[in-house]
Amino acid sequence: MRMVVLAGGIGGARFLRGLKRAAPDADITVIGNTGDDIHLFGLKVCPDLDTVMYTLGGGIDEEQGWGRADETFTVKGELAAYGVGPEWFGLGDRDFATHIVRTQMLGAGYPLSAVTEALCDRWRPGVRLLPMSDDRVETHVAVEIGGERRAVHFQEYWVKLRASVDAHAVVPVGAEQAKPAPGVLEAIAEADVVLFPPSNPVVSIGTILAVPGIREAVAEAGVPVVGLSPIVGNAPVRGMADKVLAAVGVEATAAAVARHYGSGLLDGWLVDTVDADAIAEVEAAGIRCRSVPLLMTDVDAAAAMAREALALAEEVRG
Ligand code: GDP
Ligand code: CA
Repeated sequence: MRMVVLAGGIGGARFLRGLKRAAPDADITVIGNTGDDIHLFGLKVCPDLDTVMYTLGGGIDEEQGWGRADETFTVKGELAAYGVGPEWFGLGDRDFATHIVRTQMLGAGYPLSAVTEALCDRWRPGVRLLPMSDDRVETHVAVEIGGERRAVHFQEYWVKLRASVDAHAVVPVGAEQAKPAPGVLEAIAEADVVLFPPSNPVVSIGTILAVPGIREAVAEAGVPVVGLSPIVGNAPVRGMADKVLAAVGVEATAAAVARHYGSGLLDGWLVDTVDADAIAEVEAAGIRCRSVPLLMTDVDAAAAMAREALALAEEVRG
């Protein structure tokens, strides 16, 4: 079974760990979001790719959901002693090594896809991890601070501002000119099923779909496309997805997110059991819908969700 999964960071990574347990023999290609990437201290940081790589490779800080386990922050402290920030982005010593290797390889001329493959030689995530594009795409968020409208990098909005001000627009800068990374369109065309984990619909999956050719490839793959809601009980399970959903005019409900993707893209949608009353609305939009427990409290719970997603895919196919 060839599976393609469009993934952001934590939600995508935890779901993938469950999927690997649910379907140990599957051939899984992950198309990772790179719109969150940022240059810090002269280094290229790819938070979502790294979260997937560390989570599947056994190096993640479990509790936090991002960054390395057993992390220390000596380098960050030394940089701060020189007055060099930003202080609001948590880069640990172990994590720094990843970004140094990545930046060195990019500087030597390797594309991000090749660099990611090289990093995965160490982590052995058990999936093929592809960046959505080798081209630079950077998500910016339009905000109003002190009566002045300006655009900030997604990380500044999310990490520094903690999405405390309204997002007026979310723009994946560079997406229009970006090309899907080598292997992305081929993997979608050859897939038996395409899954949208409970990743952020706007700044994770939405950004991947904004790379010209990817949305079209998924829509035209002719195989079941099944997603899982990141919204449970009318709120994101973690984080501030409601703020970026509002920026694109979508309510923070499981049904509204399904309608946002639309039946042109999605064949099946899983909502949590607390959102069972959303099923009628989703099915009225032409998307088959089931309610199942959607909290990834541990790997078994994530595996159960993955089994339900694959079962819904088979139902759609049948
Ligand atoms: P990020 O890049 O680290 O923000 O991660 P993703 O975009 O992959 O996933 C973020 C989304 O995952 C958030 O909108 C959360 O609501 C959702 N999420 C996190 N944990 C869970 C969970 O246990 N269940 C569900 N249904 N969604 C979750
Ligand atoms: Ca992210």
